[in-house]
Amino acid sequence: MNNLEYEKHYYPGTRAELIEKLRQSLSASPARFEHCLRVEQTAIQLAKINGCELELASVAGLVHDYAKERSADEFRKVIFQKAMDKNLLNWGNFIWHGEVGAEIIQDELQIDNQQILDAVRHHTVGAVHMTLLDKIIYVADYIEPGRDFPDVDFARNIAWKNLDDAVKFETKRTLQYLMENNRKIYPAAILTYNEWVAEN
Ligand code: GDP
Ligand code: FE
Ligand code: FE
Repeated sequence: MNNLEYEKHYYPGTRAELIEKLRQSLSASPARFEHCLRVEQTAIQLAKINGCELELASVAGLVHDYAKERSADEFRKVIFQKAMDKNLLNWGNFIWHGEVGAEIIQDELQIDNQQILDAVRHHTVGAVHMTLLDKIIYVADYIEPGRDFPDVDFARNIAWKNLDDAVKFETKRTLQYLMENNRKIYPAAILTYNEWVAEN
């Protein structure tokens, strides 16, 4: 699936041109660039199984971490310029590269498709309501072949069987991990947990 021709033009160029833009944006970290290529391929596989359009999965998978190397100053500037929720200022790169990154992607790559932009916004902590593409990118990011953490193979097995079960597993494990390490929990992550994991 390395020769996928873009026909719907969610990105106004070829896949190869989009990959070059991504390489430039992530030039400080070739490993992160490679991660995005693997997320794309994993997202395409999940899209095939779950009946999602492959071009959507490709574009969203490639760009999901497009803004990850931007400075805190740049993210803060975009939050002000786009009049985004000021609470975002209390968080950091791990939230900004998705929520604010979607705005940067729209401006710099001329990607206007809301499904793609929402999948980028939701890729780190999920959301209460997730589209098929949201779920695919959220899970592909977690299970791509370069990931190595306890139970990653277990997560992969779940993902190939049932995408919703994989969203549930990932949400629970991520929250467990953050709590074990005394990390702050972004409120939307708790809402995702309540919707996807909690039973009452
Ligand atoms: P990546 O961009 O491919 O590295 O993956 P993600 O976008 O999914 O996650 C980025 C980072 O944010 C990871 O290190 C997660 O563990 C971390 N993260 C996810 N949710 C939260 C949260 O609610 N609080 C904190 N402190 N970190 C989180
Ligand atoms: Fe990310
Ligand atoms: Fe990622």
